[in-house]
Amino acid sequence: MTVDAHKETMEFQAEVSQVLNLVIRSLYSNKEIFLRELISNASDAAEKLRFEALTDDALYEEDPNLRIRISVDKERRTLTISDNGIGMSRQEVSETIGTIANSGTRKFLEAMSGDQAQDSQLIGQFGVGFYSAFIVADKVTLVTRRAGSGSEHGVRWESSGEGDYTIETVEKAGRGTDITLHLREDEAEFAESYRIRSIVSKFSDHIAIPVEMLEEQYGEPEEGEERKAPEWEQVNSGTALWMRSKSEIKEEEYNEFYKHIGHDFEDPLAHAHNRVEGKNEYSSLLFIPSRAPFDMWDREQKHGVKLYVRRVFIMDEADKLMPRYLRFVKGVVDSDDLPLNVSRELLQHNRKIDSIRSANVKRVLGLLEKMAKDDGEKFAKFWKEFGTVLKEGPAEDFANKERIAGLMRFATTKSEGREQSVSLDAYIERMQEKQEKIYYITADSHAAALHSPHLEVFRKKDVEVLLLTDRVDEWLVSHLSEFKGKHLQSVAKGALDLGELDDAESKEALEKVAEEHKDLVERITKALGERVKEVRISNRLTESPACLVVGDYEMSANLQRVLKQMGQDAPETKPILEVNPTHPLVAKIEQEPDQETFADLASILLDQATLSEGGQLEDPAAFVHRLNRLMLNLSAG
Ligand code: ADP
Repeated sequence: MTVDAHKETMEFQAEVSQVLNLVIRSLYSNKEIFLRELISNASDAAEKLRFEALTDDALYEEDPNLRIRISVDKERRTLTISDNGIGMSRQEVSETIGTIANSGTRKFLEAMSGDQAQDSQLIGQFGVGFYSAFIVADKVTLVTRRAGSGSEHGVRWESSGEGDYTIETVEKAGRGTDITLHLREDEAEFAESYRIRSIVSKFSDHIAIPVEMLEEQYGEPEEGEERKAPEWEQVNSGTALWMRSKSEIKEEEYNEFYKHIGHDFEDPLAHAHNRVEGKNEYSSLLFIPSRAPFDMWDREQKHGVKLYVRRVFIMDEADKLMPRYLRFVKGVVDSDDLPLNVSRELLQHNRKIDSIRSANVKRVLGLLEKMAKDDGEKFAKFWKEFGTVLKEGPAEDFANKERIAGLMRFATTKSEGREQSVSLDAYIERMQEKQEKIYYITADSHAAALHSPHLEVFRKKDVEVLLLTDRVDEWLVSHLSEFKGKHLQSVAKGALDLGELDDAESKEALEKVAEEHKDLVERITKALGERVKEVRISNRLTESPACLVVGDYEMSANLQRVLKQMGQDAPETKPILEVNPTHPLVAKIEQEPDQETFADLASILLDQATLSEGGQLEDPAAFVHRLNRLMLNLSAG
């Protein structure tokens, strides 16, 4: 016996026990899902084997018929799920089953709030897989052997789910994994064959691997006859759902299939099922989930769209079959004409894949457009979960820019609360008669956007402004400069040109005011020196004394802040300070004879403008100091 074969007792990582407890508590009301989870794992293992065997036939060990077998033992109150899939080595067992190697589980724990109701919602987002066995079992035994390794390399793992587990090397003749659940006393129903059959047909009917159980035998054998040994019979239909004709498939079947491939507990929002014939033949079945997965922002996020070739699972390959901004879409593409030994490299430059991908995009966008049109409530739910991802679209997918933008929803100065509910079409529809542009403001919070001095003139003229407060919005507007021929214009960039909204008269008036206050502008410019690029009289302000703007082609102040927060370099752009001469404070400053006090006031004006757009002062202490000096002056005077 090698050292490796020793039976070891290992502690679970503390987190595993925590997850186990939570799983048992929160999924108890829906306990039969454990079977779906275990069958999903078994079918994944079978598909992995089929894939690896494409290049190494020996892995089949002369038994190429992949299947999952479920057996029950009423007397011993056990339920066993066996697959002849890829199996696991000892190392793989200890890495995947006893630890939180899986970053998903760790994130799950981080996201846990301690509030039971909330946390059980979370479980749906993460998927608990193997651990769900402990919902109904007080002991789980797993015996497995990696395909291709000798029968002496079997591994037996066992745990009662309470802190530790044992692991030892054993003999195992057949490859694959047997998982035996020692059912809790009050869960004896799961040792009943009919009960298991009904769960399998509910949850796992559509998976492409056959699920078998021993046939039921009723009554006593005839006199003088031996009872025949029961035979294995297939209890699921075992045809891949996506190969069946749409008209035959019930909504619930789509939903169950989605849960299987998406590792999700909730029904999807929508699906698109298509069969394409002709030069490039394939089937696709795509789903839009109801809820964003915890790892949507993970660069290595998996479980997107799976690629099959003639029913053989090839890979989880979200990015080749779906662009990143649609990475939340889950589903299956099954090609009839790609070679089975298709590699990732080959996918990179493959016309067929490219055309499948662009058709996928069109289907998903079409599905979303239809949802937006027919079921606003559902679409609002979609937008809430996935809007920020979709906003990456215009930067990534130039060809579909306008369609993607058409799906977007924004909070605006005229919408209710902070809800993102206004489409660009709706915005355009209610534009002012002479309005030419779509105006927006970016800020890092809804309040900062809504109360920004930049909006004052727009309020006065009753012009709607989009309030963009998601981080990705800066990225979005830098790639979406137009929608249906209307230019998107930041209200905080460049000289405010209201176009036709501004009549010639008011333009003239502004010039006149600027002329009148030329001295003031000069004095402030001098006092602020290097801190600003320019000082000018504003036509944006009605209530505030001053605001900051940047040049038309410069990076917005908000984006500079976002970059800095992310620890990235942002180019130093100096702001333009615009002042409102009708404001009493500015009028007062204008009258200030003392040069030093004037400089203090000018500085405060600039700092205030920075603060009111959510910016940070370069030297907050100096600001406080100046303010105090002025307050003392006030009380002295
Ligand atoms: P997930 O399936 O979400 O990764 P699980 O806890 O269900 O999480 O499973 C963890 C890992 O254990 C799987 O990713 C797989 O590598 C391995 N595993 C589980 N069940 C089996 C099985 N029947 N055969 C082979 N490997 C398995």
